[in-house]
Amino acid sequence: MSATATRVLVLNSGSSSVKYQLLDMGAEPDGGSATGTRLAVGLVERIGEESSRLVHTPLAAGGETRETEGAMADHEAALKAVAAELAADGLGLDSPELAAIGHRVVHGGLKFTAPTVIDDAVLAEIERLVPVAPLHNPANITGIRTARALRPDLPQVAVFDTAFHTTMPEHAARYAIDVATADAHRIRRYGFHGTSHAYVSRKTAELLGKDPSEVNVIVLHLGNGASASAVAGGRCVDTSMGLTPLEGLVMGTRSGDIDPAVTFHLKRVAGMSTDEIDALLNKKSGLVGLCGDNDMREIRRRIDEGDERARLAFDIYIHRLKKYIGAYSAVLGKVDAVAFTAGVGENAAPVREAAVAGLEEMGLAVDATLNAVRSGEPRLISPDYARVAVAVVPTDEELEIAQQTYALVNA
Ligand code: AMP
Repeated sequence: MSATATRVLVLNSGSSSVKYQLLDMGAEPDGGSATGTRLAVGLVERIGEESSRLVHTPLAAGGETRETEGAMADHEAALKAVAAELAADGLGLDSPELAAIGHRVVHGGLKFTAPTVIDDAVLAEIERLVPVAPLHNPANITGIRTARALRPDLPQVAVFDTAFHTTMPEHAARYAIDVATADAHRIRRYGFHGTSHAYVSRKTAELLGKDPSEVNVIVLHLGNGASASAVAGGRCVDTSMGLTPLEGLVMGTRSGDIDPAVTFHLKRVAGMSTDEIDALLNKKSGLVGLCGDNDMREIRRRIDEGDERARLAFDIYIHRLKKYIGAYSAVLGKVDAVAFTAGVGENAAPVREAAVAGLEEMGLAVDATLNAVRSGEPRLISPDYARVAVAVVPTDEELEIAQQTYALVNA
């Protein structure tokens, strides 16, 4: 790597989309403390369709967002189009300033406990995990292959959604099912959103003026997908998602926790196929299944108009959230902070208020004035007297991936 190479391209490849950010990680020698300056951000959607769309914003140049429509047959075409957009701003992939490409990889199984430089063996291992992450890992692999073909000489790093959760003790990670069957099929709780839980728990400690090793934090990542984690002294000890991202909290379109016998019932009594049940629980459940909307803004608007279905959906969402706050308080024993993050957690004050309402005996409270403040900065929203700090901490998964990637290639 060249001494002047400080840029990291972060790629988040989905089945028909690629999100990307180019960050300059500055000159910090250890990389890990670099705060990152965003040079460009963008998104390619509808890859493989006739009307693919690329939206690119060159932040460094103060440039305006550019949109390109047209068929992009596959990820290779999409990444080439992204490379062309970056080159047009003087930020091309062939620049000697590019230090590495960091890839979000959803499932790292038990093997990948930290960011990893990708070689053929690593790629083969990520492929071996496809059976436990059939919806996500194939797209991540395509993104990696394409980027490696474009810049074979450049370090490429995989940053795994599961890695932060590999510190979970066995008693939290294992399901109470037959051990031989579980092991044969690698069935256990892996957890997801790990880069967000890592980033937010660390930032929360910073907000409290403490080292992460000194604090216990419950992180509530409430986006369209949602998960909670219990982080003790900087290490994850439990998280709400499991073998797949379906377990746990009520989400935008996913049911979260459910009696597994519901699936037998749907098969035997309702005559549904496995794929239909999968689609029902992953895509047509959660808030959208309960009230027809998965956007919390719309649900709040409907509640304000007296809509009972929206009210019930909100109440079910909050009830589950409270159960996890209670469960993770017990798991941690002592809680220093509860941190809200992601689209709902960062923006929906009524969700934060309702989630901790009635938990004063547990030391939790929200100050109405502080809770109403809108800001992109990490902040406390609990009153001074509260024993447990309640915080809003905007997540930044791309920055976390860039930091981990940059630190690794500079190690
Ligand atoms: P994410 O997956 O983190 O991008 O979060 C997306 C979700 O955040 C949306 O589906 C909305 O439910 C929620 N959201 C975004 N902005 C707001 C807002 N201003 N108020 C309430 N909810 C919001």
